[in-house]
Amino acid sequence: MLRKGLIFILSAPSGTGKTTVLRKVLEHRPELVYSISATTRAPRPGEQEGKDYFFVSTAEFRMGIEAGRFAEWAEVYGHLYGTSEDFFQSQTSLGKDVILDIDTQGALQLKSKHPEAILIFLVPPSLEELERRLRGRKTESDDAVERRLGVAKREMELSDAYNHIIVNSDIEGAAKDVEIVIDRERGCRQPP
Ligand code: ADP
Ligand code: 5GP
Repeated sequence: MLRKGLIFILSAPSGTGKTTVLRKVLEHRPELVYSISATTRAPRPGEQEGKDYFFVSTAEFRMGIEAGRFAEWAEVYGHLYGTSEDFFQSQTSLGKDVILDIDTQGALQLKSKHPEAILIFLVPPSLEELERRLRGRKTESDDAVERRLGVAKREMELSDAYNHIIVNSDIEGAAKDVEIVIDRERGCRQPP
């Protein structure tokens, strides 16, 4: 019998290095299916429609909510983000393991709907280092950095809800730790 695919959810306070680490994990585990979210935010330089996100208008996103198309959705830093229910249901029914890069609000919503989902929380070694990374990335204003640090403190308090917590001290090490979790969870859930 075909085993249903697993649902891995990776969350982290903004600036921790989730995008960087996830890129490595997907290089090393190319069979994992990355769940492409819809968002109302504008694409950043280099981002591609249908690869990084589905970029939609607020009206389109609201229609998606009304139509029940999202397994979860949330407002993050003033923009809407959501995961397509159809997409990950169809992939997991085909036996494919899916990985989602979503914020803590979305992760908790999805866990309540799909308790079998495996929640991984990536954290920075310290708040000082998080601030260095956020400032070093140069994508946020000083105000936005302050706001993200405030939100980060609140998000870290949610870490108890996660199945695995991984400290991103170095990129390769953190990617390896995520891969160990994935491999172990796959091993645990293989049919006898
Ligand atoms: P997120 O997706 O969590 O918001 P990014 O992947 O954009 O974070 O990383 C934020 C910044 O921190 C980037 O400039 C990235 O190069 C850097 N970074 C990521 N991981 C590490 C690490 N382990 N050590 C030092 N810098 C890192
Ligand atoms: P960014 O705009 O930097 O790509 O993402 C901002 C935040 O939104 C990140 O924490 C990311 O994980 C989160 N995010 C991306 N897609 C989704 C989604 O579909 N749902 C939720 N809840 N959060 C998302």
